[in-house]
Amino acid sequence: EHADTPLVVNGLRKAYGDGFVAVQEIGFTVERGQVVGLLGPNGAGKTTTLRVLMGLTQPTAGEIYVFGHRLVPGAPILSRVGALVEGPGFLPHLSGAENLRAYWQATGRPWADARFEEALEIAGLGDSVHRKTRKYSHGMRQRLAIAQAMLGLPELLVLDEPTDGLDPPQIAEMRRVLQRYATDGRAVLVSSHLLAEVEQTCTHAVVVNKGRIVASGPVSDIVGDSPSVQLDVSDV
Ligand code: ATP
Repeated sequence: EHADTPLVVNGLRKAYGDGFVAVQEIGFTVERGQVVGLLGPNGAGKTTTLRVLMGLTQPTAGEIYVFGHRLVPGAPILSRVGALVEGPGFLPHLSGAENLRAYWQATGRPWADARFEEALEIAGLGDSVHRKTRKYSHGMRQRLAIAQAMLGLPELLVLDEPTDGLDPPQIAEMRRVLQRYATDGRAVLVSSHLLAEVEQTCTHAVVVNKGRIVASGPVSDIVGDSPSVQLDVSDV
């Protein structure tokens, strides 16, 4: 069941140690070819949801299926999923490309030149990939971090607020990167607190507020038809 679906989330709930329920009754699906935006104001539960999906924290209840495999807490994340880790460190005296190679070697997975080149191509790093990362701007670091998540061309890419701290041209470029990525049967799940960004980048949106889903579906259905959704998230 769902063997060809990148992600199925059912009844996800996460209560922290202090009893605070960060998310509840979260259920959605990510299909191949989709760029799904997890949209909501700060504190809505986006990061909690993504951390559970990445196996970084255990859900209190609910099931997650990645290509039909039930995600088991503590088990290694499938190689079919790539994630943007929070604040990845890069070695400053190495180039972007050297950093990515070092990272990949540390994963112990087989090297594939063609995939490496394609990931760099999609990430749009250009010649700057050969510069030492200590000379990188915030935007370039962010792009390199995303290239790192794309390295093995995972079929599902999960990114937590990838446009955080980027300027408008960099955001526009990120949009193209994510749209390029979600071709060839791949899919992207990306969080954001900006309605306009999700509207322009994503094919589908899952809107969360106070830990619950308040709307979900194709972006064209979410935006426009639903003034309450806009009110909930527009002022963050
Ligand atoms: P942000 O954009 O600020 O990251 P978010 O939508 O990603 O917002 P979460 O980080 O998932 O929201 O946080 C949801 C709620 O859970 C917040 O109220 C937060 O204070 C709470 N929370 C997060 N982590 C913990 C924790 N380790 N222990 C207790 N409460 C937590």
